Amino acid sequence: MTDTSQHRDAGSGSSTGGTLGEMGAVVEPSTRDGHDAGAIDWGTPAPGGAFDDQSPPDAALIGDCVHCGFCLPTCPTYVLWGEEMDSPRGRIYLMKEGLEGEPMNDELVSHIDACLGCMACVTACPSGVQYDTLIEQTRNQVERRHQRSASDRALRGLIFSLFPHPQRLKLVRGPLRLVQRTGLDRALRRTGLLERLAPQLAAMEGLAPKLGAPQPLPEYIRATGERRMTVGMLVGCVQGAFFPGVNSATARVLRAEGCDVVVPASQGCCGALSAHNGREPEAQDFARRLVDAFEDSGVERVVVNAAGCGSTMKEYAALLADDPAYAERAAGFAERVRDVSEILVELGPVAPRHPLEMTVAYHDACHLAHAQGVRSEPRQLLDAIPGLELKEIAEAEICCGSAGIYNILNPEPARELGDRKAANIVRTGAQVLVTANPGCLMQVTSAIERAGHPMGMAHTIEVLDASIQGAPASVFAPTTTP
Ligand code: SF4
Ligand code: SF4
Repeated sequence: MTDTSQHRDAGSGSSTGGTLGEMGAVVEPSTRDGHDAGAIDWGTPAPGGAFDDQSPPDAALIGDCVHCGFCLPTCPTYVLWGEEMDSPRGRIYLMKEGLEGEPMNDELVSHIDACLGCMACVTACPSGVQYDTLIEQTRNQVERRHQRSASDRALRGLIFSLFPHPQRLKLVRGPLRLVQRTGLDRALRRTGLLERLAPQLAAMEGLAPKLGAPQPLPEYIRATGERRMTVGMLVGCVQGAFFPGVNSATARVLRAEGCDVVVPASQGCCGALSAHNGREPEAQDFARRLVDAFEDSGVERVVVNAAGCGSTMKEYAALLADDPAYAERAAGFAERVRDVSEILVELGPVAPRHPLEMTVAYHDACHLAHAQGVRSEPRQLLDAIPGLELKEIAEAEICCGSAGIYNILNPEPARELGDRKAANIVRTGAQVLVTANPGCLMQVTSAIERAGHPMGMAHTIEVLDASIQGAPASVFAPTTTP
């Protein structure tokens, strides 16, 4: 398991603990295709170095970094620890060192593991450095070439044998709901036993949302009134199992806005968790199956209501580029993928909105704002609801600490980031926190609970659905946990 506490000592003086000044000295400008390549050999990675020649971090992309440091204030790990090697610039430097012959050691891996993959640095970078591509390439190499500890392997094995499998998650739902209804979960939490014995498992347990009844969707839902578009809908793994109400609300809103909604029963995981954690072959398998599931559905768009899933599905062309049987189909699929807020803005409203008298703070999910560039659409949809007042959250660009499974693998920094986000949310004075990703909802809910400041929590589409249905604002009142 990665021990992130080591990063708290800024400037630890390690072999990979270079400073900006040192980096400036190492990189000598040279160009290829307009990229600053520094001292990197354009051929294969140096023998004995961290990377093999199977898609190593791209030297040309590394060369694009001019070490300006504009990304630093938006990087959550740099904000927490002030450590150069836990900044985007520092991690890019480590990739360069790895290409030049530095071995893949525990320290390199710890800095790569500590990255949340939030892509705030991609938004902030004035030079257009494609850190998203670089971290994915690096993580793929880490997972293939680095031997993790037995406990780390066991935890990752548990996570990846459960979360990307909707049927297995469904099996977990029943017992988990029973534990929640009997209060056993809260009793266990109060003992602090799990926290002491297995902090990662305690983090997983603490994040589980309060489960309601399952809400299965039919495979075909007809539009209300005149059909304007036929869309496919991703149910998602965690979304489908833990937030079925979000999927029901999505289907209702799409229907009310004139969409026939197709929900193929054969769909499974989109591969986002695997892709973001260096498990490339697994992600590719999931992507192929999802392309198959929607292939003959006749849909014009594939609608997604989970930010992490949407960002990966939009990248299927790159994920399956080397697969001759799927490359073209994956590219065609990716072109049709839209976040639910994008499709609703594209269509324009036809269903009347009813007033919701409440103040709402909107939290940008990193994989929606930074990875997909979708910021204005959710705000537009919320702003158009009569009576609703929208509040902005300070430090909006900084991740809440969820980041897929980051808050399970790295509970300590994730908790710090969650508490920081919760404090900023509470400061808005809003009654309801709204976001567009199941991971963020779980992370922020548990942080707000810790802050002792009850708030309603909802997905953007649930608020829109309530307005269209004419539901009262009280449906978003906080539920208190005894
Ligand atoms: S902002 Fe971009 S160019 Fe500047 S240090 Fe960060 S990644 Fe490099
Ligand atoms: S992806 Fe996020 S955590 Fe990782 S380097 Fe960029 S800003 Fe920092």
